[in-house]
Amino acid sequence: MDDLQYGTRNKRGDWAPNQPAETAPLFALPPRLMAILKWLPHYFFPWNVIFAASAVAYWAWVIPPKETMQTFAIGWIAWLYAVNAICVLFFYGAFELHLYVLKRQENRFKYNGKFPAEQKSKAFWFESQNLDNMLRTFLSGVTVWTAVEVAMLWAYANGYAPWLSFTENPWTLAVVALVVPIIHEFHFFCIHRLIHTPFLYKWVHSVHHNSVNPSPWSSLSMHPVEHLLYFGTAFYHLILPSSPILMLYQLHYAGFGAIPGHVGFDKVEIGEDKLVNSHAYAHYLHHKYFEVNYGDALIPLDKWFGTWHDGTPEGEARMQERYRKRKEKLAARKARVEVRRAAQ
Ligand SMILES: [Zn+2]
Ligand SMILES: [Zn+2]
Repeated sequence: MDDLQYGTRNKRGDWAPNQPAETAPLFALPPRLMAILKWLPHYFFPWNVIFAASAVAYWAWVIPPKETMQTFAIGWIAWLYAVNAICVLFFYGAFELHLYVLKRQENRFKYNGKFPAEQKSKAFWFESQNLDNMLRTFLSGVTVWTAVEVAMLWAYANGYAPWLSFTENPWTLAVVALVVPIIHEFHFFCIHRLIHTPFLYKWVHSVHHNSVNPSPWSSLSMHPVEHLLYFGTAFYHLILPSSPILMLYQLHYAGFGAIPGHVGFDKVEIGEDKLVNSHAYAHYLHHKYFEVNYGDALIPLDKWFGTWHDGTPEGEARMQERYRKRKEKLAARKARVEVRRAAQ
């Protein structure tokens, strides 16, 4: 597979796509019907279908009966932690093994030419990005994920959350299912913007940003506070007319859905000639430049708030202009304070 048909590689070996990163046309104004129709299959395949199917599989084979979940007990909670941990190990591990251990597609379509294992850094536990990221994933990531899952299932089992049945309210639940990714995008943008404020960035979000060159295990490598905010997306289902299956879909969208954005490759080669888009470029640029692309571009929130970077020189210029303006503002504020001080 020749990745230079799709992009360019610089002297450092970093690959960039020819096509700039794009926001989904869903909320574009004026509405672009043809663009939406063309884009629509990508809304489902392959990623969202995988996360939704995994939620159905959980409901069928993993989630205990309602009566069990009415009271907290170590047995079913430990069982859920174990299943979540095994699924993360296999799902994340599959990408890690394919792309980073066996390096089956070498550095084709890889944004950053280097592999994290080649670079030691003091920012990480044991100076190893992989080990640090894996430990954070299983110690607090899967733990908080399971805790939120348990709290929500307990709420459903005790009648504290609106639980509609698929046979009686198929249309309502179909709409909620369609909206799950949009809820995630809105929630993620809000909490992500929040944890980029100086205090929370320093104490919470900087952990995730240690991975400037993200790989699959970076997906859930976060501070526990960020894990709680991130998986808090499930709590919308405490007020939405929904079902535990859709709440699980929401959680899986966050938990398994973090993978595509951190996979580090623009496209994953399947077999000889099949390519699966990761749509990771926008979030890769976030890890590279920090203060752009707070969302994943399903809703053009970054465009609306002026923080969108599509990877082009124009996007770069917009970012630099924003930094310049902010610097000017800070300098002006400092000057005002000094004038006031001198006058006192
Ligand atoms: Zn990230
Ligand atoms: Zn961030």
